[in-house]
Amino acid sequence: MKYIDIRSDTVTQPTQEMRDAMYNAVVGDDVYDEDPTIKKLEVYAAEIVGKEAALFVPSGTFGNQLSIFTHCERGNEVILDDSCHIVIHEVGASSVIAGVQLRTIKSDKGIMSPQEVRSKIRKGEEDIHFPSTGLICLENAHSNGRVIPLENMKEIHEIAKENKIPVHLDGARIFNASTYLKVDPKEITQYCDSIMFCLSKGLCAPVGSMVAGSKSFIEKAKKKRKLMGGGMRQAGFLAAAGLVALEKMRDRLHEDHENARYMGKELSKIPEISINLDDIQINMVFFTLNIDNVEEMVSYFLDKGIKINPPENGMFRFVTNYWVTKRDIDYIIKTLKDFLSLKAR
Ligand SMILES: *Cc1c(COP(=O)(O)O)cnc(C)c1O
Repeated sequence: MKYIDIRSDTVTQPTQEMRDAMYNAVVGDDVYDEDPTIKKLEVYAAEIVGKEAALFVPSGTFGNQLSIFTHCERGNEVILDDSCHIVIHEVGASSVIAGVQLRTIKSDKGIMSPQEVRSKIRKGEEDIHFPSTGLICLENAHSNGRVIPLENMKEIHEIAKENKIPVHLDGARIFNASTYLKVDPKEITQYCDSIMFCLSKGLCAPVGSMVAGSKSFIEKAKKKRKLMGGGMRQAGFLAAAGLVALEKMRDRLHEDHENARYMGKELSKIPEISINLDDIQINMVFFTLNIDNVEEMVSYFLDKGIKINPPENGMFRFVTNYWVTKRDIDYIIKTLKDFLSLKAR
């Protein structure tokens, strides 16, 4: 059975062009610096985000944690939003790998107040009790589906610069953010010293993320990547798919965004649903369904060939991607209406 899968954009299958590129990839031992396909990907990735160098890593989590590990000393404090991916969905890795303390602050849907960030910065040499702030992390697009305004990133970056603290951007979905803002990705990455972005997710590569930054940062990170077990030998097969992802899949993300907005509009016509259409900025649609036993919906949908996740904190999240068409969305809406009328009986 062919399923429509709207659980996430991480579920995307590679395109035929990626499969062909992987089959034909020229590879070598990347730990010996001998994989031409990985090198090509790293040069291209750095260019796209306007940084001196880039590094291929196994996952987004790996890339974020490697960046924290490279920027910080043990015992440093990292300032970040309390709803960001690094805090919520990375298994507490920053305390295990980098040995840092996360200083979380409350944000307004992912937007941190620059004044609040400034007030949390600490200098270890000022007080025997204080850790030093080693890093500030931003996330754009945010995993809540919203895009952080450039002005906010700029203000926080300026505060960081004044205090000689680097800024890392979790840009897992940077190209969704640049698509929404209708700007070149460099307009966003000018406000960070390092960035991680995913080749998987909406770009459909099977595996892999990139870390980019200054040449010296990437050199340091490369050694730490080895320490973390991320020296990946003939991973040029994966880089080949990553190159197709960056060359061919970035410029079509607006289709996923249009489909998400279309889905949101159709959902908003259903009385049992509450949804804030202003929150649909990229490919994610969050909503609540005001019925008992919402969990039943998951198995009903699966029977109808649609994979959805159960609600998290009461909220459903439907995610569009390359493999989900507008017709699929009509079918999803119809299935939901059928389910609701069945429940009403
Ligand atoms: C998915 C995601 C990551 C982690 O990527 P994985 O490849 O799943 O480890 C990091 N940050 C954000 C914002 C994400 O959405």
